[in-house]
Amino acid sequence: MRIKTKKITTMGAAILSVAIPLAAFAGDEENQLIDAMTSAYGGSALINLKTFQIEDRFIAPTTGQSHTPGLQEINYNRILVKADIAQSKFSYDFWTEGRSGSFLTSTISDGETAFTIDYQAKSYGQAPSADHYGFAGGSMRTTDAILAYEISKVKDQAKLLGEVDYLNRPHVKVSMPFPQSADLTLFVDKETYLISKMTRNNPAFGDLDYVYSNYQQNNGITYAANIDFFLAGVPNLISTNHKLVFNDSISDDAFAVPEKFKEEGDRIDTTEMRVNKIASGVYHLGQGGGYSLFVDTSDGVVAVGGYPALTARYDRYKTESDIHKPLSYQVVTHHHSDHLGGLSEAAALGATLVTVADNNQVVKDAVSPSSGGGRLLNISKQVTFGEGKKRVEIYEVATIHAASFLVTYVPAEKLVFIADHMGSPYKTGVPTANLNTVTMHAALKALGLDIKKIATAHNARIFSWKDMEKSVAAYAPLNCAEDHSLCR
Ligand SMILES: [Zn+2]
Repeated sequence: MRIKTKKITTMGAAILSVAIPLAAFAGDEENQLIDAMTSAYGGSALINLKTFQIEDRFIAPTTGQSHTPGLQEINYNRILVKADIAQSKFSYDFWTEGRSGSFLTSTISDGETAFTIDYQAKSYGQAPSADHYGFAGGSMRTTDAILAYEISKVKDQAKLLGEVDYLNRPHVKVSMPFPQSADLTLFVDKETYLISKMTRNNPAFGDLDYVYSNYQQNNGITYAANIDFFLAGVPNLISTNHKLVFNDSISDDAFAVPEKFKEEGDRIDTTEMRVNKIASGVYHLGQGGGYSLFVDTSDGVVAVGGYPALTARYDRYKTESDIHKPLSYQVVTHHHSDHLGGLSEAAALGATLVTVADNNQVVKDAVSPSSGGGRLLNISKQVTFGEGKKRVEIYEVATIHAASFLVTYVPAEKLVFIADHMGSPYKTGVPTANLNTVTMHAALKALGLDIKKIATAHNARIFSWKDMEKSVAAYAPLNCAEDHSLCR
């Protein structure tokens, strides 16, 4: 493939008049393409990028995360990224508004240490990683100019993948590595050398598409002011405002914890599998953000928590408990896509999937035919597996998070298992409540159960009922406008 050397034209308004030096085409084809892209995006202003700021407002359909499977709600998200490249300082602010309330969190990093800031709790704690590609990489990928900047740093690892028509215009496809991500494939317009689209693959969700348009400039650097993000072909983030500021000075305040915020305790290390033995035959275990409860009942082993890697957790349960039975039941807490990821594994282990009629279709869709399809047991309001001390009780409740949620209660241990309604990554301290917490607390109280311990799908920590009571008592809706520039 040869890349034409002569002209750069733009779609619509003539915003570019960048001359490509002929010497830039002396190298291999990848180098030629990347040099042409670099020139198109701003030349030395881009290559010597000192700072950038990304300000985003998104309409975000709650794909796979709605109140009922039948109606997808919309969240309203705002993001502000500030990057001081020379000082290796990065901040990422995220505001989201949805049916569970409003949330504002930040991550700040100086490249070596990083903190997450919770504006509702007015607290901060250690971030899981100081690598800005981890917490801000998603926003960086929504900005074509940042991709052009990043590919210029890894020229030798870029690979041409041929030519393709995109939106009826000839494009060149080129792949590039991107830290903490699968490789990215850029669709570069053959006339303008601007990026029209980027795709990458997520093993769990399929193809992710980023579509760029409406090119504008700031301080000599071109960027697409419209960015829409698609998950497996379905709009997932629709930008209503995508504004970039390049090479402007950024106050150090952006990278500091707000005054008077209190420090949280230590974060629980979940890089290895964590095992909580509740009692003989009753274990809560998992890794990272996915945990299951396993209970040996007189009707067989009951598992709750449907995150992927269920088999690995069940294997560990068998080793720890020395109970080697097939899995009898898998309780599907609710219909959200992330909690259906392990259901094929549960079906392959021979488990009956416990759910409700309204969620049948999404549960069936989540189980691969190769796993045997899985038997479904629809419950209505309540079911008990096992007898006496070796029993679990499953209750259907309604919260703001899900119209139908299955709470699992182990009477002998005064333990419930829930997902998504309360959480904290820290070893101690009161979890910050939101409307999910408040409505689940009310639902649990209405059941009249004697609860002392709370295990969850996302946290290694076993919470106490007192933690939940304190959390709900301290609940106050976040008024972002008073607290943070992102909300004004
Ligand atoms: Zn959920």
